[in-house]
Amino acid sequence: MYPLRGAVRHYSWGSHTALAELTGRPAPTEEPEAELWLGAHPVAPATVDTGDAAVPLCDLIARDPEGELGTDCARQFDGRLPFLLKVLAVEQPLSLQAHPSRAQAREGFARENAAGIPLDAPRRNYRDDNHKPEMVVALSRFEALAGFRAPAETVEFLRDLGVSELTPYASELGDNLDATGLRALFTAWMTLPTKSLVGLTDAVLSGCERYLEARSGSEDEFTVAARTALELGLAYPEDPGVLASLLLNRVSMEPGDALFLPAGNLHAYLRGTAVEIMANSDNVLRGGLTSKHVDVPELLRVLDFDSVGVPWVRTRRDGHERLYALPVREFELWRVRLHNSGTPEPATAAFAGSAPRILLCVQGSVQLRCDDRILGLGRGEAAWVPSSDPELVVRSSHATVFVATPPIRSEST
Ligand SMILES: [Zn+2]
Repeated sequence: MYPLRGAVRHYSWGSHTALAELTGRPAPTEEPEAELWLGAHPVAPATVDTGDAAVPLCDLIARDPEGELGTDCARQFDGRLPFLLKVLAVEQPLSLQAHPSRAQAREGFARENAAGIPLDAPRRNYRDDNHKPEMVVALSRFEALAGFRAPAETVEFLRDLGVSELTPYASELGDNLDATGLRALFTAWMTLPTKSLVGLTDAVLSGCERYLEARSGSEDEFTVAARTALELGLAYPEDPGVLASLLLNRVSMEPGDALFLPAGNLHAYLRGTAVEIMANSDNVLRGGLTSKHVDVPELLRVLDFDSVGVPWVRTRRDGHERLYALPVREFELWRVRLHNSGTPEPATAAFAGSAPRILLCVQGSVQLRCDDRILGLGRGEAAWVPSSDPELVVRSSHATVFVATPPIRSEST
């Protein structure tokens, strides 16, 4: 096991304080800090301190894939770490987006290669041929839009807003309360000519203001949705994402709550700090709420209009540990909370060897022990534990640690 130092990514929607405070650096920072990458993605690999040198994690793994990842994992994922762990610090809403399935990514990657679009071109959609299922776990209160609301409720919301310009759209969805109706409405809004888009958005935002005034102080799903549209309209005027937000679930997450965003799920993160884990891919299709490349036709190809509702992740508790189990082969995530609950002895949790792991301490401090080796982690610090290490024991009187690993599917256990 080794100390692992994450790579900070500067995007305009990031926070000037959250990541610096988490990792014990002076805040506010000059540049916004949006993401801390803890992984082996070649664009921004984390750095392993081996004692002799600081080595990018991707290079360490490339030197000895079977030793670092284990034979099964190295074989299954072509010698690469199959997941990327991040901390997100969201100060401004970020893009309305979805990710492709593996088949869509393969097809899109080949198509853009054949069209001669350079891999680093801003208009490139598919930067690799992999899918990118992702999960987000709140560290603070975390706000997001995720998944379509059930169409019948959306019809009720659109009618309640009392905006005459919305009436034909609400009627059409009311006549088709299914994926076809949602697709038609979303497509219509996302492809409006600019003049019509501005007119409709202005009418909707005025409607949202009137709606909130009439219900001053009351807080329910629809008032929250109206307020969200107003906030997005301020940050991104003339953006179809403002209208799209009317169709989506507005989600407020408490620390520990998690959402799973599988292929085709439309989502946008609005505010807060969270841990995010995803397959090792950079494939994002954007529909708005961003200054980055937007490709609505391509987004429409991958969107899933069939599954509605909030994509909450169910967790399984096991002693100090809580498993966020997902139907993906690239990763699973554990949250370990250790408290000595009145006894002088620190609490412990143990993880078997033979699996690569990334640990991130987000609260308190922990001691990691492998054989006779000991490594301390404070808040915001991380560690890389190669597959060749034996059992790992985590000890603390007070700490919260996330542990990311590929799901262990060994025949012998
Ligand atoms: Zn995403």
